[in-house]
Amino acid sequence: MRQSNLFTKTRKEAPKDEVSKNAILLIRGGFINKEMAGVYSYLPLGLRVLKKIERVIREEMNTIGGQEIEMTTLQDSEIWKKADKWDDEKVDVWFKTKLKNGSDLGLAFSHEEVIAEMLKNHTSSYKDLPFSVYQFQTKFRNELRAKSGIMRGREFFMKDMYSFSRTENELMHFYEEAKKAYFNIVDRVGLKEKTYLTRADGSVFGPWSDEFQVLSEAGEDTIFIDKDKKLAINKEVFTDETIEELGLVKDKLEEKRSVEIGNIFPIGTRVSDAIGFTYSDEKGENHPVVMGSYGIGLGRLMGTIVEVLSDGKGIVWPDEIAPFKVHLIALSGGEKDADKLYEKLLAQNTEVLYDDRQDISAGQKFADSDLIGIPLRVVVSERSLKAGGFEIKRRSSDKEEIIKINNLPKWLNG
Ligand code: ATP
Ligand code: MG
Repeated sequence: MRQSNLFTKTRKEAPKDEVSKNAILLIRGGFINKEMAGVYSYLPLGLRVLKKIERVIREEMNTIGGQEIEMTTLQDSEIWKKADKWDDEKVDVWFKTKLKNGSDLGLAFSHEEVIAEMLKNHTSSYKDLPFSVYQFQTKFRNELRAKSGIMRGREFFMKDMYSFSRTENELMHFYEEAKKAYFNIVDRVGLKEKTYLTRADGSVFGPWSDEFQVLSEAGEDTIFIDKDKKLAINKEVFTDETIEELGLVKDKLEEKRSVEIGNIFPIGTRVSDAIGFTYSDEKGENHPVVMGSYGIGLGRLMGTIVEVLSDGKGIVWPDEIAPFKVHLIALSGGEKDADKLYEKLLAQNTEVLYDDRQDISAGQKFADSDLIGIPLRVVVSERSLKAGGFEIKRRSSDKEEIIKINNLPKWLNG
């Protein structure tokens, strides 16, 4: 894409009321727009990143057999009433509204009950199980505090997966597969080093959970980590009992701040019992379906990546989720060759943002490029041409390199 056609502009300053680093950088780079506290729109660059994160997650969910669906954000209160949740004070984030005829509606904050209710229409026998379904879907939560940028929105995208099994064993087998899939995701988005599987509190749905916590001062959580075992315990369940259960040693644990990017937990039969979701076994006897829940926030993940991987100049996107692979910059004297290179890169399907803007100084173009954070910068200028080609620099390094004109497309592929 030609940067001269991109409608978003970079900015020197973020809105005065914005305090989180992820939102400040993403707003300044033109990735997102702040509508109000905790509510952000995704602009072209931001949407490209979001969609790539979605793709990574989708691939990993498909690999473990997840079937993708998309449920609605408007939810019938009757289902939640059946599960005794509608008036449950523990769910304090609900946006509720009414139909013109007076009946109650909820905006989705989660989907456990609603999905189980839907699946009753499709699942009756032991032969129908096990399986798992997932969706990318907007969730609404009336969060008390929304000061963490896209890491804590009042409207946000979540991937939520639910598994349905016949027995606890079958559930835990899938649970381990899901855990691996989650580690693949964090690996692919560049967070592997900093991510700890963390034992945490249960929710309204289950007795305990496993969180995927990323070390960051911007986080709202406090965890105690074992660096060697790569395991942690959330402060909320930091007891001698939990330490022992996980086979950890208290003196070895270090206290850290962190961000929960994902969260998985066995639900068991609580939800199925509440709404009467059963299957019949070989003998025709009925049992409640055994469920598991697996969530990950796309904005939470994207914001965390910005928090953790940015430097003083801007964002540093990992290859797999960068908005573009190459940031091609034309400087004076290099315009013609840059144009040709742009066409070549397009022809070989390299994702390239081409800074073809005129009357913008080299300094400004470099500053914008550092802020936007595309992994590879290619500069074409009179100087680079004199030196024999194009100047290449990785966003994550300070080293520049000159690549011969004809070698570049090959070099990029290699
Ligand atoms: P938290 O403890 O941070 O409030 P949670 O435990 O309520 O989150 P879940 O209900 O398990 O979160 O949601 C699954 C995932 O959705 C979380 O791990 C997180 O990545 C994401 N998420 C939850 N709340 C938000 C939010 N307000 N904004 C963005 N992402 C969120
Ligand atoms: Mg949590």
